[in-house]
Amino acid sequence: MDVVRRLSSAYKFHADIIRRWVERYGILRTKSLVEALKTPCKRISLRVNLLKTDTDHVLRYFEEKGVRVHCHDKLEEVIFVESRGPFKLPTSDKVVIADKMAAESVMMGAHLFAPGVVKAENVRKGDEVLIVDKYGQPVGYGVAEMDGEEMEKRREGLAVRVTVTLFKVPSFRGDPIFEEGYIYPQSFPAILTSRVLDPRPGELVVDMCAAPGGKTTHIAQLMRNEGQIIAVDRSKNKVKKLQETVAKLGVKNVKILLEDARRLPKLYPSLKADKVLLDPPCTALGVRPKLFENRNEKDIINSAAYQRTLLRAASKILKKDGVLVYSTCTLSPEENELNIKYAVDELGFKVDDQMHVYGFFGEPLLKDYRKLQRFYPDSHDTPGFFIARLIKTRD
Ligand code: SAH
Repeated sequence: MDVVRRLSSAYKFHADIIRRWVERYGILRTKSLVEALKTPCKRISLRVNLLKTDTDHVLRYFEEKGVRVHCHDKLEEVIFVESRGPFKLPTSDKVVIADKMAAESVMMGAHLFAPGVVKAENVRKGDEVLIVDKYGQPVGYGVAEMDGEEMEKRREGLAVRVTVTLFKVPSFRGDPIFEEGYIYPQSFPAILTSRVLDPRPGELVVDMCAAPGGKTTHIAQLMRNEGQIIAVDRSKNKVKKLQETVAKLGVKNVKILLEDARRLPKLYPSLKADKVLLDPPCTALGVRPKLFENRNEKDIINSAAYQRTLLRAASKILKKDGVLVYSTCTLSPEENELNIKYAVDELGFKVDDQMHVYGFFGEPLLKDYRKLQRFYPDSHDTPGFFIARLIKTRD
């Protein structure tokens, strides 16, 4: 399809992804999806850590700082701050190319540090430079703090002091309210996920893919630090992050395991949790803002197959009538609805209503799956996201 090729090269999204969305949603909706994905949310959500503070305190803190904040009308731990932009960038013939992660950070208002620099030809310290990604898409403008060769080589240090960026997203890193663990930046659907799990004080909850710990620490908050959470992650570095998050947020009821969650049934044959959260790795097609998307059809298929292996393990460590919440930050049906169909057809789960737990903020994709909650970047002003709540019907 010509239009697929055209949109793919204009947006820098892999043609497989564009093709799938054009087939499912049509051309106009595909454009609106991609354009939303290329920008940050207008309302940026933060979770208030009710283990350490209350929402009023956080609201007062922001008001005193002159930051505009809104509360959510139903969820007491959710507040929103606003992003601004897009702003017009000045031009310059001196260009610094940044890697994807760095370019996406600059795009939201961060400075550019040397490890994120890919190329900086003919740049001298003091030059005014335009920062672009590898496709030449501009993200920010500023003053070089070192010579080009130096920023290409150095492993640390400020490379470009950024003065204008495409967007401004408030960041609270370094702010006492963040450093003390009073707030945790988390997307709205990610916050909703732990709410949909509805953990109660005293329960045994397993979080199978827990790092860096956003949902784990929220679950602890909902359990008021009572009961037991087993938080598993197989990556050593990420487990370190998880430990830091747990300590910072004052969470006391978590046991952290550095382990492949697929081994849990073998390692702990008598483990029967009341509730399990499975927030597995996914193709992250819903994560925003993104400058480009290189993942393709094959990545989706592989990711879905991997998620099923985790779903199988989840079914074994859950007690009968126990609750499994499954969430992803992606949009492909294979990783979402079709994996849930697999869990229903092969693993003895039934789909549970999310309405009685919290209300339904998203929307379903398919008629047969009305109880599954999806979020779209263009219509919900959130990342693309998926939440399913399942009940295990057999021993
Ligand atoms: N739930 C987290 C985000 C999870 S991202 C939060 O809300 O903060 C997915 C995580 O799954 C990654 O940290 C990755 O290291 C972990 N992971 C991938 N495969 C795994 C496996 N087989 N067992 C345990 N963890 C796994």
